[in-house]
Amino acid sequence: MSSQADPGRTTRHPVLVVGAGPAGLSAALALRAAGMPAVVLERRTAETVRPGSRAAYIHGASLRELERLSPGLGRGIADRGLMWATKRSFWAGHEVYTRTYPRYGKDGLPPFTSLPQVDTEDLMAAACREAGVEFHHGVEVKSAETTPDGVRLTDATGRTWEAEYAIAADGSRSPLREAVGIPLEGPRSRNTFVVVDLKDDPDHPVPLERVFHYKHPAVGGRNVLIVPFAGGWRVDLNLNVDDDPARFTSAEGLNRWISRVMPAAYGERVSWVSTYKFAQQVAADFTDAHGRVLLTGEASHLFAPFGARGMNSSIPDAVRAVQAVHDALSAGGGRAGAAAEIARFAAERREAALYNRGCASTALEHMVAQRPAVRLRRRMAVTLALAGQKAGAWLDSAPYGPKLAAKGAARKSY
Ligand SMILES: Cc1cc2nc3c(=O)[nH]c(=O)nc-3n(C[C@H](O)[C@H](O)[C@H](O)COP(=O)(O)OP(=O)(O)OC[C@H]3O[C@@H](n4cnc5c(N)ncnc54)[C@H](O)[C@@H]3O)c2cc1C
Repeated sequence: MSSQADPGRTTRHPVLVVGAGPAGLSAALALRAAGMPAVVLERRTAETVRPGSRAAYIHGASLRELERLSPGLGRGIADRGLMWATKRSFWAGHEVYTRTYPRYGKDGLPPFTSLPQVDTEDLMAAACREAGVEFHHGVEVKSAETTPDGVRLTDATGRTWEAEYAIAADGSRSPLREAVGIPLEGPRSRNTFVVVDLKDDPDHPVPLERVFHYKHPAVGGRNVLIVPFAGGWRVDLNLNVDDDPARFTSAEGLNRWISRVMPAAYGERVSWVSTYKFAQQVAADFTDAHGRVLLTGEASHLFAPFGARGMNSSIPDAVRAVQAVHDALSAGGGRAGAAAEIARFAAERREAALYNRGCASTALEHMVAQRPAVRLRRRMAVTLALAGQKAGAWLDSAPYGPKLAAKGAARKSY
């Protein structure tokens, strides 16, 4: 459904969702699963295709959550994605770890899947349409005003939209977060990372393996991460602090370094390139002073992608926000009871975001090894791993940060 602007009419909604990325689509599905109307305002037109694989690594927990919200969706994403069965780590060209997992049977959801974010969003949007979500594309929310009774949004045409609650899923630059005056707090990485997508080349097949190189000798000792996804490969190059990123992102520069870490033909198969200094930021609060705007996804947190906690934590943010809004709207305790539900959401998801940022920071620090203690620990692990000890497993897993499944931490980590 697309919007028919009618400046004379302002309908009051129980809840409006702003943004149709993974957080907004999850919120919409959760609203419908709870039997509530779901209205989504999205700046992009319905035809706009966002570039880049971005959240290509989808945790099994996300698949299970999406399957719960919309039966068939988690499985559909898993079936469209791919699962690589082998992972390898190298140190300066020497293999320090390899492990191959048994192929999972298609009878259950896999432990993860690898699919470009745009494909995941397509499947989620189709599930939303199926569930009766009302989309208003081409609506750019410019400002938000909250009172103890609700929230009023104004879009770029001057049209106002009123609701009891708004779920801000409008991404890292979140106009809603800005409007209610909540800052993001935290640093950015000093190093730049070049991230490229490469189209599969059937004439030059590459084994479906995730490969991490510490100090790849063919690219001047920089770290390289190579991850397959359905239809292609994502390659991340970890630049040195004093590198000029332009040298690695020009057509010639790309060709030069890619053809040294992949079969040479892949140097000509770049479908997306981007550079990042990764932010490690969390919103100071996850709701406004009146508890009417609930921040979710990248509106509330930005993490380095090691450990894949961005989209994977945006889904439970959105689900928890919907639960809070649902409980607030049906709270017996009046306004105070409703406010308490929203405050609980804000506290829980902020705690989860701080935990996730801590994990991503550990992973980032391990990658760039600025601290002498980390450099020393990596060196010792390499010496042991090359002598055949188990330290290789640590070298392989450390660039992803702490494991998720620790008891009690699992809920927070998402
Ligand atoms: C290189 C890279 C790799 C990544 N890898 C992973 C990974 O493997 N796994 C993982 O979990 N995460 C990963 N992430 C993170 C993931 O991409 C994000 O966490 C995810 O996109 C956040 O979803 P979101 O819905 O909060 O925001 P977004 O995806 O940014 O969506 C926000 C939506 O809001 C809309 N919008 C913005 N402003 C307005 C407005 N004013 N009015 C209306 N609509 C508006 C936008 O058009 C957009 O559709 C990666 C990110 C990068 C950059």
